[in-house]
Amino acid sequence: MGLVVQKFGGTSVADADRMREVADHIARTRRQGHQVVVAISAMGKTTDDLIRLAQDVSRVRPGREMDMLLTAGERVSMALLCMALSERGVPAASFTGSQAGIITDTTHMKAKILEVRGDRIRQALAAGQVPVVAGFQGVSQTRDITTLGRGGTDTTAVALAAALGAAVCEIYTDVTGIFTADPRIVPSARRLGRVSFEELLEMTATGCPKPAMRAVEFARNHGVPLHIRSSFTWEPGTWVKEEDPSMEQAIVSAVTHDASEAKVTVTGVPDRPGVAARLFRGLADRAINVDMIVQNASIHGLTDISFSVPKDDLAQSLEVARALAPEIGATDVLGDLDVARVSLIGAGMRTHPGVTATMFETLAANDINIEMISTSSIRISCMVRTGAMEEAVQALHDAFKLS
Ligand code: ASP
Ligand code: MG
Repeated sequence: MGLVVQKFGGTSVADADRMREVADHIARTRRQGHQVVVAISAMGKTTDDLIRLAQDVSRVRPGREMDMLLTAGERVSMALLCMALSERGVPAASFTGSQAGIITDTTHMKAKILEVRGDRIRQALAAGQVPVVAGFQGVSQTRDITTLGRGGTDTTAVALAAALGAAVCEIYTDVTGIFTADPRIVPSARRLGRVSFEELLEMTATGCPKPAMRAVEFARNHGVPLHIRSSFTWEPGTWVKEEDPSMEQAIVSAVTHDASEAKVTVTGVPDRPGVAARLFRGLADRAINVDMIVQNASIHGLTDISFSVPKDDLAQSLEVARALAPEIGATDVLGDLDVARVSLIGAGMRTHPGVTATMFETLAANDINIEMISTSSIRISCMVRTGAMEEAVQALHDAFKLS
């Protein structure tokens, strides 16, 4: 028994039937003796539809007005859920982000939460109500309505859980938890009973689509346990917590994949100090996030530098590198969209040597060429051709016996 924050959004509340099922589940949770706070986001594809509508209406879309528009989606769902709860005899009250005291900075469309005051939420709880809070929104220090960026309701839920000292933040979704690999690629993939914050952060950074990475970071920083679970089957899902030092960590917990990055190669650059600094400063100044980097051994004092960037930033990255080419003495700058990143994640890697070797051997045995590599203490990522991505994921899942 204790306070539980439950997050619902998108497909979980896509229509009236789903809304009623969610209300039933909240009522059930209350009957088990828990206090419940809900963070809800827009129904189905509402947010996408609103964005499309704005694009149809105008080429000029000030952030302040986009935020006013997009927060309408959450307003609809929170009011409807409260009605469904009332019909079930569960007293409930909806609150906008502003009413809930979610204070953000002034950056429209990707605001950061500065503080969760939550007075009205505490009052509602004390009055025996279920507070239903609109996700993904807040109010800025200058009293404008802001949004936290796409998928921001996960962050709202975790921030509420942290501020209210909840025992757990349950994130309901259309899958039954976090898997050892994407089940669409590996049908024998297994649901993980438990994963550490660090592992899930590495997974979301390398292609695991849910939950939102920012929410996981927030949960880790504030020590909020997460439970990722299904709003369709309601079965227990995956717990996300600190590593348990008394337990042996799995060497490899999951294989992820991500085809959202592109590769840039700068050829024939002189191998001398300052060249890489100049190139990557240029990219950093345009806020381009570079992930993997490879520099070849130099031949006759010339070398090639390759790096990966988000596909959406490829055009800009090529522009930056080509503009710098004369200054750094590069011969050519090439872009490549046909690449994908396959990663192994596992907390036990820290203490078990040999994972990298097995990964490379597995790829080699399947005749898959590795074009770039990057690692952290609990992750190894390899860049391969897009066409080899699925095979690589399947082979690695097999090799590390994750089924
Ligand atoms: N409705 C918002 C979106 O679609 C927020 C969320 O889903 O978390 O991005
Ligand atoms: Mg959504």
